[in-house]
Amino acid sequence: MTLLTVQAAQARILERFRPVGNESIPLNRCAGRVLAQEIDSSDLPLFDNSSVDGFAVRSSDAAAASAALPLSLRVVADIPAGSSPATGIGKGQAARIMTGAPLPQGADCVVMVEDTDYNERAAGTPAPPQVRVFKAAQPGENVRTRGMDVRAGETVMRTGLRLRAQDIGLLAMLGIAQVSVFEKPRIALLSSGDELASVEQPLGPGKIRDTNSYTLGALIEGSGCEVLALGIAPDRREAIQALVNRAVELHASMIISSAGVSVGALDFIKEIVEAEGKLDFWRVNMRPGKPLAFGDYRGVPFMGLPGNPVSAFVGFEVFARPALEMLSGRSMDGKPTARAGIKVRLTEAIESDGRESYLRAIIEERDGSWYARLTGHQGSGNLLSLVQANALLIIPAGVKSLAIGSQADAWPL
Ligand code: AMP
Ligand code: MG
Repeated sequence: MTLLTVQAAQARILERFRPVGNESIPLNRCAGRVLAQEIDSSDLPLFDNSSVDGFAVRSSDAAAASAALPLSLRVVADIPAGSSPATGIGKGQAARIMTGAPLPQGADCVVMVEDTDYNERAAGTPAPPQVRVFKAAQPGENVRTRGMDVRAGETVMRTGLRLRAQDIGLLAMLGIAQVSVFEKPRIALLSSGDELASVEQPLGPGKIRDTNSYTLGALIEGSGCEVLALGIAPDRREAIQALVNRAVELHASMIISSAGVSVGALDFIKEIVEAEGKLDFWRVNMRPGKPLAFGDYRGVPFMGLPGNPVSAFVGFEVFARPALEMLSGRSMDGKPTARAGIKVRLTEAIESDGRESYLRAIIEERDGSWYARLTGHQGSGNLLSLVQANALLIIPAGVKSLAIGSQADAWPL
């Protein structure tokens, strides 16, 4: 079988994924969810209002006021925030106004209390009958005009946005109580291997901890998807089949397994998927994690990641994460949001074997440039080296060595 490039494998995987359905949920449950609608704004702010506590005045009155020549105005209204001004102001008049309160008719600017002889802000104090203004005011001063932040009709959020706190705040500002978001993809996750024991089980001779269920589970949740934790399948055909059937019954959007996809005699995954679906089993020109199974099991996309814990992690980052982004609706023009990489300089020489390599590295910024070094030996079972890393350093296919000072791309983790 041919050795696919990483990019070709990614492209073939992405073809298979479309967002799952939409649902409408209350705004206070939207954090981290992916927007499935465009949001068009109304005017923000909705009405002209004061940005300070002070006195709404006419700039034509106040144009020449100064400390030496204060302007005396009659206070004809008191406008707290949340009220609606009953009267306008005329020549020689002012209205006391609070931050956020609507500007009265006739006023076109606000003088801060600090620039008047009335600096009483305690709640409940009545407005004075007169006020003296010590500073000239320009038209529009201390006024937030209607539509100044956003104009009605402007599209402020697009489909595919993962909603952050500030996005949710803006939706609230616009009075959007129910939001259309993409459903959370449900990802069935299983580990395979006779040697595996979960963290709760006793560890018999020759057994190791099932690490991947936990690492991959955390990665899936971190990508905004739900984990259907199917546990560990021993190396028996019926056991594996039972778990993948369970995934289908649970209406999983995708099945992710780890291990059992190399050419070991006990690797049944391939056979099982092939019997009830279609398997594109690939050898990808990449390190770590050459074997990657991808296909379809009874209509559910299936991805078999390698078993070694570091390989499973890297396989997730390179192949599963973009697929989950597509399922989650985090796509633009049929492509998942591009991963932000940064350019780094190597502070050590690096040997590679010509496969596209994703190495565990520590990246650091010094004087505006980023530098990278590896976190020790790159064995694909050495999970501590991944724990110590803050980035994956990418050595392109075809490159066998890089000298100190060479440039490379890195994915911050
Ligand atoms: P396999 O692909 O089944 O040959 O597994 C490759 C290596 O990964 C073996 O050393 C397995 O013991 C190990 N391995 C497989 N699955 C897991 C897992 N879930 N957690 C930790 N190690 C695993
Ligand atoms: Mg195995």
